[in-house]
Amino acid sequence: MADFLTPRERSERMARIRGRDTKPELAVRAILRGLGARARLHRRDLPGSPDLVLVRERIAILVHGCFWHRHQGCARATHPATRRRFWREKFARNVARDRRVARLLRRLGFRVIVIWECRLRDPERVRRRLAREIAAREIAARTTPPRRASRQAGARHLSREEPRDERERSRRERSSRRG
Ligand SMILES: [Zn+2]
Repeated sequence: MADFLTPRERSERMARIRGRDTKPELAVRAILRGLGARARLHRRDLPGSPDLVLVRERIAILVHGCFWHRHQGCARATHPATRRRFWREKFARNVARDRRVARLLRRLGFRVIVIWECRLRDPERVRRRLAREIAAREIAARTTPPRRASRQAGARHLSREEPRDERERSRRERSSRRG
């Protein structure tokens, strides 16, 4: 059945679905509070404005709706019957974006945790997982020297992982693709 929303109303509704303070996100926030973890919300200075960031532990938590973010093998990741091409392309963009954001966050030294909406049917299990992740990061923080600003940490991370000529080559490749 057709709905009768104006484009503006529709986009507002989409923003609500995809945006902040969604029910799954509130559930994860409650779990983190229970664990005594202090989360910063939607830090816009970080790639993709991650839903929740534990600054001290350097953990980024992405709370993903199964439909929009395409939870593999999940019953909620349905395929709409109409405008198939539109949806296929939209989903592909979402998935590619999620991958890119996770990669950039990791490069900045973040542990990236994706929590799928459907997993929150069992909040105790999510709680145990988050507790384990936080404990692991706290141990790591005690045994490695403190990092300074996130950008520097990102730069150090790159320079450690990639030898100089490797970086040189990827830079050349990037600029040749552009030109
Ligand atoms: Zn799911």
